[in-house]
Amino acid sequence: MGNQPFYHSTRGNEQCAPKEAILQGIAKDGGLFVWDDLDQVQIDLPSFLRLDYKGMVQELFQKLLWDFTAEELKECAQAAYGDHFDSSLITPLTFAGSQPVLELFHGPTSAFKDVALCMLPQLMSKALKGKDKKVMIITATSGDTGKAALSGFQNADRIAILVFYPEGKVSNIQRLQMVTQQGNNVGVCAIDGNFDDAQSNVKKVFKSAGAQKLEKEENIVLSSANSINIGRLIPQIVYYFSAYQQLLKQEKIKIGDAVNFCVPTGNFGNVLAGYYAKLMGLPIHKLMVASNENKVLDDFLKTGVYDRNRPFHTTISPSMDILISSNLERMLYYLCGKDVEKVNGWMNELAQNGRYQVDEETLVKIQQTFISGHCDNTQTFEEINRVYKSTGYVMDPHTAVGSYVLQQYDQTEPTILLSTASPYKFTRDVLRALQMPLSADDFECMEQLSKISNTPIPQGLYALKELPVRFDTVIQCEDMETYVCEKAKELLK
Ligand SMILES: *Cc1c(COP(=O)(O)O)cnc(C)c1O
Repeated sequence: MGNQPFYHSTRGNEQCAPKEAILQGIAKDGGLFVWDDLDQVQIDLPSFLRLDYKGMVQELFQKLLWDFTAEELKECAQAAYGDHFDSSLITPLTFAGSQPVLELFHGPTSAFKDVALCMLPQLMSKALKGKDKKVMIITATSGDTGKAALSGFQNADRIAILVFYPEGKVSNIQRLQMVTQQGNNVGVCAIDGNFDDAQSNVKKVFKSAGAQKLEKEENIVLSSANSINIGRLIPQIVYYFSAYQQLLKQEKIKIGDAVNFCVPTGNFGNVLAGYYAKLMGLPIHKLMVASNENKVLDDFLKTGVYDRNRPFHTTISPSMDILISSNLERMLYYLCGKDVEKVNGWMNELAQNGRYQVDEETLVKIQQTFISGHCDNTQTFEEINRVYKSTGYVMDPHTAVGSYVLQQYDQTEPTILLSTASPYKFTRDVLRALQMPLSADDFECMEQLSKISNTPIPQGLYALKELPVRFDTVIQCEDMETYVCEKAKELLK
């Protein structure tokens, strides 16, 4: 495979150019698309760090997504980051006391997933050009992904999106964010069941007779917006460089100095992007993986045994309540010596027994870069309170998991904490952590949080108060296939 600049599956030889990999999402053999020569695509730091955020996006994408033209990438960067973020830095670096915090939540839905989901639809639209196809995105969500995807795909050309959420199992703010979504190519539907029901039925729809019929008769292909798509992964590499650039500008480091990042982790997408940045030449010493009570990754990184056979905990950092971290497969591929046989073996064991163990040599290599820790619910509440009391900075529960883990390590290099959600998305738990009285009204809670944290309420969240509800359908899981087929035709007319 050597020098050919193609993406291929972590489990075999299936090759794809970048545009095709983005449209396809996942390889046909179930593997994820990787590029063998990533560590040879070196970024020249001094010149790269002189660029603004959009400039870095274009430069980095040109190297990794080589079948897009420079003009296409410029348009994508402008459409994604031109005016959707409430900070011109896109991902501004701030400080909680002396602790650097990279805020990834300044996009339209106040979650870090915006950084990638503002870009993926742009890339997909360009990849579709000249093809006689339309795309129907279907996604199951436990809260955050659904809204970020709806917002990102709103009014995209020849693409429609349908989001399924479990009725009664997302927060009121999260529900309002979705059911008030504007746009002619979007749909939102509740299902009678939990998130796993939504997720497993979406997977069934992909393989259904209805899906085949859509492709054959309507030229509509189903696709997903989840974080295994390289079009979601690659945009996340950029903010690691941006963090370094901002630390440099504030004279906390000199160019070439090593830094660490601490990353609240679920599906391993965010922290994997950090590893890609390291491979491409960003001087990263350690990547700290922070888990909540679902600490399957922390255990794996300490022992080399990945075991999902354990109770599932519902926590106050719900976007990290995950027992199968899909993107880990890519890290394993790079660190086991790019051996598809090995990866295949582990993934088969995972599918069959829910467990695998990597060899000692691979584990040693992994531990050279990745360290880890975990934080339970009580510790998360306490950490939000501790940081506020000592610095005045208010963080969301996901960020607090990272903050707690970061304290457990004594590093000589500066460690940047990634903040993955605005505290306004989790106002109730945050106020509870700060031991503040709680109003029954979510918007009054936001106002209270604004007063004590001295930060503005994100417009998109406060606007929910006035927006009309557009979607109130609830369906049974068995009816999802029919529903998707009807909606696909209607939304992609
Ligand atoms: C999705 C999400 C995470 C986990 O990110 P991964 O890339 O899945 O590891 C962490 N925090 C928040 C707020 C999220 O929405």
